[in-house]
Amino acid sequence: MTNVPELFGSMVFNDAVMQQRLPQDTYQRLRQTMKDGKHLDISIANEVAAAMKDWAVEKGATHFTHWFQPLTGVTAEKHDSFISTDKNGGVMMYFSGKELVKGESDASSFPSGGLRATFEARGYTAWDPTSYAFIKDNTLCIPTAFCSWGGEALDTKTPLLRSMETIDRQAMRILRLFGNNDVMHVRPTVGPEQEYFLVDKAVYEKRPDLIFTGRTLFGARPPKGQELDDHYYGTIKPRVAAFMAEVDEELWKLGIPDKTRHNEAAPAQHELAPIFSTANIAADYNQLTMEIIKKVARRHDLVCLLHEKPFEGVNGSGKHNNWSLSTDTGVNLFEPGDTPYQNAQFLLFLCAVVKAVDLYPEMLRISVATAGNDHRLGANEAPPAIISIFLGDELEEILDAIEGEKSYSAKEKTTMRIGVHTLPRFPKDTTDRNRTSPLAFTGNKFEFRSLGSSASISDVNTVLNTAVADVLCGFADRLESAGDFNAMLHQLICETIREHRRVIFNGNGYDQSWIAEAEKRGLPNLKDTPSALNHLLDEKNVALFERHKVLSRTELESRYEIMTENYIKVVRIEAETMLRMARQGIMPAVVRFKGETAESALRQRTFMANVDVTPETELLGTLSDYANELHSAVRDLEKELASAVSCRSITEKVKLYSGSVIPAMRRVRAAADALELICAKDVWPYPSYSDLLFSEE
Ligand code: ADP
Ligand code: MG
Repeated sequence: MTNVPELFGSMVFNDAVMQQRLPQDTYQRLRQTMKDGKHLDISIANEVAAAMKDWAVEKGATHFTHWFQPLTGVTAEKHDSFISTDKNGGVMMYFSGKELVKGESDASSFPSGGLRATFEARGYTAWDPTSYAFIKDNTLCIPTAFCSWGGEALDTKTPLLRSMETIDRQAMRILRLFGNNDVMHVRPTVGPEQEYFLVDKAVYEKRPDLIFTGRTLFGARPPKGQELDDHYYGTIKPRVAAFMAEVDEELWKLGIPDKTRHNEAAPAQHELAPIFSTANIAADYNQLTMEIIKKVARRHDLVCLLHEKPFEGVNGSGKHNNWSLSTDTGVNLFEPGDTPYQNAQFLLFLCAVVKAVDLYPEMLRISVATAGNDHRLGANEAPPAIISIFLGDELEEILDAIEGEKSYSAKEKTTMRIGVHTLPRFPKDTTDRNRTSPLAFTGNKFEFRSLGSSASISDVNTVLNTAVADVLCGFADRLESAGDFNAMLHQLICETIREHRRVIFNGNGYDQSWIAEAEKRGLPNLKDTPSALNHLLDEKNVALFERHKVLSRTELESRYEIMTENYIKVVRIEAETMLRMARQGIMPAVVRFKGETAESALRQRTFMANVDVTPETELLGTLSDYANELHSAVRDLEKELASAVSCRSITEKVKLYSGSVIPAMRRVRAAADALELICAKDVWPYPSYSDLLFSEE
């Protein structure tokens, strides 16, 4: 039996270890730095580094690394050993404060967009002391931010940390106005639910598309998918259960509070979720979680697929980003309170989210925009590409009553007055069941469901924090200068509901009628990554991020470039993989099967002149038709890909990939999938969807 409390955090240089191993005053000063985000004095850093090294070496570590999150979306590390030579030619284990707080890194091999040209190639990594150091693979990992020498963010963590400072500052202004004088800081809290697929390694290795692109580019639908609903929350199979148990152990060792695990809707699909943490720590944890589930799966001869849509026609994988705001005194600001004032404060924060989402839907959409997620959004298992917010009927009724148009209770016929009336208690469950909304209020937090399974959670939370902070800033400005606080509060809430209610939608987001309705309301529907990215540099977005010093125009431009290039690369790799599989695998198999069918008919005729070969003849006819279609579709894809590859302008190029290459790929797939269903199973060169989806047994 695993002793969980003993195991938990055993590989983390956490508060308990610090307290135990650092001199009292060093510990206190480090704690202060962590709390206020202040600069760490080098003498303190030296003491912390020495203690960290001793601890790590005792645990078997030989190396250390700054662990960071460049704009590739995955983590990066460069290991250095603790070894240092002494005068006598011997070695000793050494780690300095300088090495702890700052590392130099060659930035030129990481995506930097335009930043590489304008700034020095060198970058540096700087310790984020709010995220504990940990040991992974005998290496002490120091969570760091990654910047260019000029200070430009080259990673996803730096803007997230900046956005956390911003929302802290603005939310504190509001809290002070409500008389919360004991609160010192407000932090966003995040709990991401991670979905993934598991497939058998031997089957996986026969699919070049999975190996090169993470998703299947071919595959006819299996006769049985998820229609019987027998997988969701189903009994976990022994091999998967063993995998999950090992994942939990690995995560717990790293202090990651993994809590929930279950089967998801699709066959071979699963989910795990931790208990929530402060946003930047949650982002670190989620990166580690993705790394660990992939690694542990291999040990069980399984492969973990984190792609948003590994199988067409089967549910894709998302990462529900549960987000809230919490005070350092432990109060959740989205928890409706018991007194009229607590209620008013809750409603003001709620209104801030509604307004932020209505003002910056494009940025939220962009924060989840990848080539992979394009296949998932709007595909009837994930929210549409239209950003709206779900509050639930009950809460919307309350807002209506406050706005004064309708009465809250049919019986009482009263309108609600802020600061005077207490909110009725609404059961959490009723607000939790709308699974079709991109952003749902679930009783005491917001669940953003558009995020894809393979993405870092940093960008979405950077956008949420910054946009909400911006609105809170406007609210605070007005409240601070108001003569009558209560009157202004009431006015702000009414005004926000009136002006921004178009973004509230409690209906079925999967319903086709919502698309037309959303258009009437003037809500953007940015169907794919290129159309979303078109808005990244809109003046209002640049102004938002510059105003709060979260991202500069230059940093946003570099992100535009990186995201666009990434989209182009992904689609190009997919198209090339598809062409190889069609030309080298599928076409030869079809040609062979056609030949066999023709030969069989011919041989039978030779044997017996009047034998009925209708099945062979008809099969041959159908095979011929689809084979012709496949042949022509492949030629067409080659042509479209060639023009996209040779196009020089990045804005034109991305349009060619989304507008011509992707449709050409769809045509190739349709022909190949039709052929798969009429060819003998033993001639088909690749494992089928059934082989893949029911392989984890
Ligand atoms: P589900 O959405 O499947 O019903 P839960 O409601 O149990 O799941 O929670 C999902 C995630 O939300 C968990 O990771 C949980 O820790 C997280 N969560 C709960 N409360 C908060 C909060 N105040 N802030 C951020 N995340 C939260
Ligand atoms: Mg959820």
